[in-house]
Amino acid sequence: MEDAPSTREDEPPAGGTDFVCRRCGACCRWPGYVRVTHEELDSIASFLNMPVRELTEAYCRLTGDRTGLSFIEKENGSCVFLAPDNRCRINPVKPRQCAGFPDAWSFPGYDAVCRGTRASP
Ligand code: SF4
Ligand code: SF4
Repeated sequence: MEDAPSTREDEPPAGGTDFVCRRCGACCRWPGYVRVTHEELDSIASFLNMPVRELTEAYCRLTGDRTGLSFIEKENGSCVFLAPDNRCRINPVKPRQCAGFPDAWSFPGYDAVCRGTRASP
């Protein structure tokens, strides 16, 4: 899988979806890119109160296809912004890729590794 999604809050998001994230952190640990746009980097830099260039140099790398930027990983393979309690340090401004899993996008069999639940089957 190319793209890794990410942790959501353990509350059902607004907008009608019935998915409830259980904050297992699996989607912030599996291999793949956490793609981030320049607009998202602006928001994240503002949230972290640091210059965009500093944020980019410290926490981003070029994706393998050289078409964009991705967050780097820690030595254990998790996203650099994943906290020990499985919370996302930038949750209010995390990339759309992260916020969109698994409602906006997912992959076959994702529910075998994602511990989130749905109110309806
Ligand atoms: S940015 Fe946050 S939600 Fe996205 S992969 Fe990293 S820790 Fe997970
Ligand atoms: S894998 Fe599923 S339950 Fe676990 S943090 Fe990601 S969205 Fe939430």
